[in-house]
Amino acid sequence: MKAQIYKIHSDFYYVNFGHEVYECKVREILKKQKEKILVGDFVELDEINENRKTAVIIKILPRKNFLTRPSVANVEQVVIISSIKEPDLDFEQLNRYICLAKYHKIKTKLCFNKNDLSEDDSVIEKIFQIYEPLGFEIVFTSALEKLGIEDFAELIGNKLTVFAGNSGVGKSSLINVLSPGLNIRTKEVSEKTARGTHTTRHCEIIEIGKRETVNSKRNVIKIIDTPGFSNVKFDFIMPNEVDELFDEIKKYKSNCKFKDCLHIQEEGCSVLDNIDDIDLSRYQSYLSFVEESREFKEKVKTQGTKKETSHKESSNKKVAKISAKKREVSRSTFKQNIYKDLNEA
Ligand code: GDP
Ligand code: ZN
Repeated sequence: MKAQIYKIHSDFYYVNFGHEVYECKVREILKKQKEKILVGDFVELDEINENRKTAVIIKILPRKNFLTRPSVANVEQVVIISSIKEPDLDFEQLNRYICLAKYHKIKTKLCFNKNDLSEDDSVIEKIFQIYEPLGFEIVFTSALEKLGIEDFAELIGNKLTVFAGNSGVGKSSLINVLSPGLNIRTKEVSEKTARGTHTTRHCEIIEIGKRETVNSKRNVIKIIDTPGFSNVKFDFIMPNEVDELFDEIKKYKSNCKFKDCLHIQEEGCSVLDNIDDIDLSRYQSYLSFVEESREFKEKVKTQGTKKETSHKESSNKKVAKISAKKREVSRSTFKQNIYKDLNEA
């Protein structure tokens, strides 16, 4: 019998099985294999006792994916929640979450909350302009005024969903609007103790009752009550792997002259040739993440743990000079600089 782990408490594992919660133990042999069971894991049950609502886990079924913070398996999607105001929309942070989800190969959807605070449509237009062509499903909500909540519920659907988003954007408020009385605590909990060691984050699948959605489909919302992805830096991948996380950059990379082109200043870079098709703020995030990933490259170099991919420096110096630092330049100045540098070269 197959069931999904909803909650883990010391040696007890809780699964939803036939509309009831069963308390399970793990068969000794499985314990010896030292395979850690995660919330979200599908497991095979034996010794099911329908009166006492107990069972024994005999096998962990193969995982589709897993996250480490929070520790959860088989996540079906990440919904990134940002606020339009208070705090102001942070595009780099949004791109960071998008890339992290991409790294974990988990489908991503976007929710922009505090829509009641938006003074004009400029931010909303910008959001559509950047993220719609990239194929993201987008909803706008106001937890305060209870607007867009049905869209939000539809966005989540019946998929096991992890939320991501900075503190204060309204994650808890939105979920509480979906399910009043649940008093969800999606608040970030301190991940490090005073002694600097990591603490285990509590993590549990929460089902939000049956709802009638706009399509009047019966819908059980399954969410993880802890936000996914802490605000990590991209210091765990190599600089030439960052482009894999940006679809619109990845699209052009196969035409770059050099296989390990970083699309910053290289000769014959197809990404730079098509820079007009790439949103400037997305490209700036790309540059920031490449910068962060250089730390990893240095670490690998000094520790020599991973064989380095050879980086052929383009012999022809600077073709286009784009500072890796964030520059508040308009697209046209940006382009002018590229052409200026091109001419100088
Ligand atoms: P979380 O840290 O992401 O869980 O954010 P909270 O749900 O705790 O919300 C942070 C603050 O923003 C609280 O003071 C909320 O009342 C407020 N807030 C949440 N949603 C909205 C909204 O849609 N509009 C406005 N104006 N304020 C909101
Ligand atoms: Zn390139």
